[in-house]
Amino acid sequence: MYRGRFAPSPTGPLHFGSLVAAMASYLDARSQGGEWLVRIEDVDTPRNQPGAADSILRTLEFYGFEWDGPVLYQSSRFEAYQCALEKLRRARALFPCACSRKEVGEIYPGTCRNGLPPSREPRSWRLRVDDDPIRFNDRRLGAQEEVLSESVGDFVVKRANGLFAYQLAVVVDDCWQGITDVVRGSDLLTSTARQIYLQTKLQLPSPSYLHLPVAIDRTGDKLSKQTKAQPIPTSEPAAVVTLAEAFEFLGHTPPQPFHSIKDAWAWIKPIWETGNIPAVRARSISHA
Ligand code: GLU
Repeated sequence: MYRGRFAPSPTGPLHFGSLVAAMASYLDARSQGGEWLVRIEDVDTPRNQPGAADSILRTLEFYGFEWDGPVLYQSSRFEAYQCALEKLRRARALFPCACSRKEVGEIYPGTCRNGLPPSREPRSWRLRVDDDPIRFNDRRLGAQEEVLSESVGDFVVKRANGLFAYQLAVVVDDCWQGITDVVRGSDLLTSTARQIYLQTKLQLPSPSYLHLPVAIDRTGDKLSKQTKAQPIPTSEPAAVVTLAEAFEFLGHTPPQPFHSIKDAWAWIKPIWETGNIPAVRARSISHA
């Protein structure tokens, strides 16, 4: 049974990029008779914005999304993450690390891999990686390969501030929720090899992956809450236009303007083809 999900971080209101991710995962699930779940990824508590989770859920509802079952909040799952961490620790896959983010740079140089340097205190827990290539097939982008020792090195699974890393939380929850298909933005493509590696270490199944084109603004920056992507409108005429823009972004050009949100979904649902999503290019859209 197909089971997909949309997993927003509550760091701000829903913007066009997240609408596109929600829409593609929703339509991919529904077109295959599958279930679609919503998970609020509030694991990085300092980045959570008060009220953002509720606002995201209200906006999804307003736009006509219908999810199955209760919304899962990662903030309620710390015990499960701790269990996974213990499992990795028992398998000797982890080591304590004293390095600060500044000391590390892009690829972890292995400073604490064989023990903490003298008089340094442990801060985070890192997962040891190796030189074996991680291979997976992205449903849109095709065969992918990444050697973690060359791209990121040993990576953090529990952070210096005591919080669990996104990579660990997402893998534990995707498995626990029985997710078979992940459809999300290409900004997360570089996380996928780490997640597959974690799945192997934790002996969990891997879902299939599809990474979407990233919505960029007119200056070529990724639309995100950080680059101050505007919230999508939450009143009817404007929202109907936004829905049509998102369909278009995903390779389904509406023949004429829609009258209502209901109308828009009624058009897309029977004709949706995940294969129509543009192959490579991120498109500039008018929302920035
Ligand atoms: N919470 C992540 C984000 O909002 C998405 C995680 C995922 O889809 O795997 O960027």
